Amino acid sequence: MLRVEGIDVYYGRIQALKDVSLKVEEGTVVSLLGANGAGKTTLLNTISGFISPAKGEMSYLDGSLRRKRAHEIVRLGIGHVSQQRDLFSELTVLENLRLGGSLLGDKTKMAKKLEEMYEDFGILKTRKDQKAGTLSGGEQQMLAIARALMAEPRMLLLDEPTTGLAPIYVERIKTLLRRLKERNMTMLLVEQNAPMAVTLSEHFYVLRNGRIVAEGKTESLPENVSGFFHKYYI
Ligand code: ATP
Repeated sequence: MLRVEGIDVYYGRIQALKDVSLKVEEGTVVSLLGANGAGKTTLLNTISGFISPAKGEMSYLDGSLRRKRAHEIVRLGIGHVSQQRDLFSELTVLENLRLGGSLLGDKTKMAKKLEEMYEDFGILKTRKDQKAGTLSGGEQQMLAIARALMAEPRMLLLDEPTTGLAPIYVERIKTLLRRLKERNMTMLLVEQNAPMAVTLSEHFYVLRNGRIVAEGKTESLPENVSGFFHKYYI
């Protein structure tokens, strides 16, 4: 569904991604692991069209993403839940969700989609008139995921959805991602928490200093997942 081939990305003279290739098959979850500064966010931002690669090719459903702008990529069906969540903090939960669904076009579809979100994210229904900025971190993360889902993406890019959250929200997000997986949502999941990520994904990649240094099927991993990945985090 998504293919990234040999991309290089620079911030000025600093090279953040070096010859990175990766693919995500439709209906699967792929985890992208690596320490702070490895380049994970840069890769997601490049796929989403926020950053242009200096070299390489990216394709999605057989069409090139290379010269596409961020808003065109959303229209193609790639939703991105960034680490900052990018919510409109002065707007209510409902207003944020509506903005997420603004591409749906018609009111009936929007109302139906909102109901679906409220079913999956009960807390958002009870908080629908509350300003997004006043939600807890975990609630904001739920809202950010729900807002991305409002656009009916075929694929989701998730940037560290559980980082910094209270344990109860880590569990909730995990349950939610599992439910999305059961519904065959294709996901590229960036995580620092390798054990959590591999339980959700079929395939993994590890980035280190801007390069893919390991990849494989998660079923081939030893039982001690943290032990296996330790060497890539030091
Ligand atoms: P984290 O887990 O901390 O978010 P990451 O794996 O997502 O890390 P990136 O944020 O992609 O890593 O950063 C990759 C490299 O690019 C780092 O060395 C970082 O300092 C650098 N970098 C990221 N954004 C910029 C920027 N806007 N300008 C300059 N350098 C940047």
